[in-house]
Amino acid sequence: MSTTTKAKSEPMADLNPRSTTYEFLGPPGAFLISFGVPFMTYLLYFGCSEESGGCPPPLQSIPDRFMEALSDKTFWASLWNTEASLIYLGWYAFCIVAWAVLPGDWVEGVTMRTGEKKKYKINAFSTFLLAMGISCGYISRNGPESFTFLYQKWIGFVTASLVMSLVQAFYVYASSYRPGALLALGGNSGNFIYDWYIGRELNPSIGSFDIKSFNELRPGLILWVLVNISMVCEQAVRRGGFANVTDSMWLVLAFQTWYVADGLYNEPAIFTTMDITTDGFGFMLAVGDLTWVPFPVELGPLLAAGVLGFNLLGYYIFRDANGEKNDFRNGRNPKNLKYFTTSTGSKLLTSGWWGRSRHPNYFGDLLMALAWSLPTGFDTPITYFYVVYFAVLLIHRQRRDDENCEKKYGKDWEAYKKLVPYRIIPYVY
Ligand code: NDP
Repeated sequence: MSTTTKAKSEPMADLNPRSTTYEFLGPPGAFLISFGVPFMTYLLYFGCSEESGGCPPPLQSIPDRFMEALSDKTFWASLWNTEASLIYLGWYAFCIVAWAVLPGDWVEGVTMRTGEKKKYKINAFSTFLLAMGISCGYISRNGPESFTFLYQKWIGFVTASLVMSLVQAFYVYASSYRPGALLALGGNSGNFIYDWYIGRELNPSIGSFDIKSFNELRPGLILWVLVNISMVCEQAVRRGGFANVTDSMWLVLAFQTWYVADGLYNEPAIFTTMDITTDGFGFMLAVGDLTWVPFPVELGPLLAAGVLGFNLLGYYIFRDANGEKNDFRNGRNPKNLKYFTTSTGSKLLTSGWWGRSRHPNYFGDLLMALAWSLPTGFDTPITYFYVVYFAVLLIHRQRRDDENCEKKYGKDWEAYKKLVPYRIIPYVY
């Protein structure tokens, strides 16, 4: 089937101008992050796992252990696990087959620079339900010990997902050079490492299969829930059954499953996000989507209820804010929110959540991230790594979006900023 509508003829060279500005500190930043993300993923495991002797391990032991590992061939070999790689490949194939065979509506994304609209198949939520059904059925038949392999072979899965991200990043970079490819405005600098990292082509696809939106929601996000289920199974095996799994473990599973299910259920809402409309697909999104997945104490009912309330508040802000903008960008305004019309014709909300800050959705997302770390208690800062990392990511993302909007809306953006002065947290930041 055709997956684009309404073509406008304009030479590709005009549509694909050279990018003149760099983000992430340019090629050196892109290079460092491309090494830094895999390094941090391994470090978080080796620095905060049962084998490491603490979380974090005793500080004085770190340099010796680090040097020992680097010069040890068996350490390097331990990063690879053929069985985990094959399971990972099977998982990825399952997601593709589910995309192809499960029924789903084809919906249009936003209008691209070519005047066209891409069409996307909506069946991420049914893929999730199928994966959950198969996994839960498998566990109830074979017991929790049958599903601990994700936990047991963790590092092998990390390596497999990294290899997958690398392969995809090289593939989409090479295929972006075919004639007629629509490039991302920020990914056409001509510098290989930078364009490879940030994503050169806006919407790389194979036939009607859109690589970016597929990776964004399916293989990584659903696997995140399966990894969490595997952790619950591991605890059930060690503590003698599911009845003895800690409340904090259940909370983390519930929060993150909810987050993932919500994102998948609201699949069409990603088509108005920055990743889809603006960023190309390169190593940054591939490794973010496929490898960079996050990481539990007995809390007691009172603390558990507090953490639950915190998560629900974050979720409400996140969902309501994203819903307001997505409705608005799709021509609906059920709450009759006020807006500001820019000279480009595009309108910006100035009341509701989007009148409280310029990125209220990030505020809700951050509250949820904190609620996911709180069940780990306060014994170690390591389990708050995700909150800190996520805050840095969202602050940086807000700045990037601000710059993009300034380019798009010029003086109107300045006027909008006066109406909505806070960046993320109303009255604070
Ligand atoms: P957003 O959904 O926040 O979209 C930003 C765009 O919205 C702007 O470029 C602009 O585009 C439009 N916009 C800005 N202000 C207004 C306004 N007042 N009224 C109407 N439209 C406006 O982008 P993101 O992709 O960054 O975030 C989407 C969601 O994904 C968020 O909830 C975020 O928290 C989450 N996220 C989660 C991550 C994770 O790792 N868990 C990582 C990154 C994001 P235009 O005007 O062109 O429409």
